[in-house]
Amino acid sequence: MNCSEFSPVRLRRLRRTAAIRDLFAMPRPAAANFIWPVFVLPGTGRREAIASMPGQFRLSADELVKELAPVVAQGVKTVLLFGQHEGEGKDECGTPAEDPQGAVQQAIPVLRAAYPDLVILTDVCLCAYTSHGHCGPHDLEGDIDNDAACEMLARVAVSHARAGADGVAPSAMMDGQIAAIRQALDEEGFKKTILISYSTKFASQMYGPFRDAENSAPSQGDRQGYQASYRDPGTALRESMVDEAEGADALMVKPALFYLDLIKEVRSRTDLPVMAYNVSGEYSMIFAAAEKGYCDLYATARESLYAIFRAGATQVISYWAPFYSKIFG
Ligand SMILES: [Zn+2]
Repeated sequence: MNCSEFSPVRLRRLRRTAAIRDLFAMPRPAAANFIWPVFVLPGTGRREAIASMPGQFRLSADELVKELAPVVAQGVKTVLLFGQHEGEGKDECGTPAEDPQGAVQQAIPVLRAAYPDLVILTDVCLCAYTSHGHCGPHDLEGDIDNDAACEMLARVAVSHARAGADGVAPSAMMDGQIAAIRQALDEEGFKKTILISYSTKFASQMYGPFRDAENSAPSQGDRQGYQASYRDPGTALRESMVDEAEGADALMVKPALFYLDLIKEVRSRTDLPVMAYNVSGEYSMIFAAAEKGYCDLYATARESLYAIFRAGATQVISYWAPFYSKIFG
């Protein structure tokens, strides 16, 4: 059969050799656009592997300083800290979250001393600090009390700013939390503190390994009353737009891989940065599949990360950050 009988369009010209493919490739995601989420423990000399998240650890601040050296050397410049609370003290309101002696508040100056240029972001939520594992206290009817949660979240954010965080990222999905936190930060003199909203955050099955890492699963019920529903994308998009109006400096879609359409949609509606949280389940699923021989670990990670950036994410919060060179090198 004579090929000239077919269309003269020959798209394969643009991918004939590796060099030609590189010529026409989109830029590879930069290490500087990766944010590494890390779990900090109180105390010193502590390092606990997280069984459901291969390659990730709960670390005391001094151990995190060591763990960060090869990560920073690859060009990753930003961490997102998650705290833990051990022993007594968890209560209805999550009071230990604002403790200046808490794991996050104590880790910030240690990291700052070791890496003066590191961008230190903190997750702001209550679920690791409440006795019931929800992201706010209950009201008299048993619902999560939105406005009481906002007041508490604002105090936690201020405590992180006071400890030296460059930015705070509230993840509780309470209405008005961005306005409440911005107001509290400004009143306390932290006008320079970046406020990143987990704006479009879905109630998702993809958080399982994280809850194992953080010991933050609710003891009763679930979070569908405050996290967005994947069956209602319109309201999920409004969450981001409302948070922009309340003064968020950056928006977020979480999880990332099942929500690429929403990343693209949020990107088209805002000029703010649109972060994507490539969550624990997305990370651990690829690890588990690679372990079974179903896919190549780093090649699959690379494909998934390209998808997130292609959808329009401007930064990715990802457990793959420490493996940046192995994935993209
Ligand atoms: Zn929470």
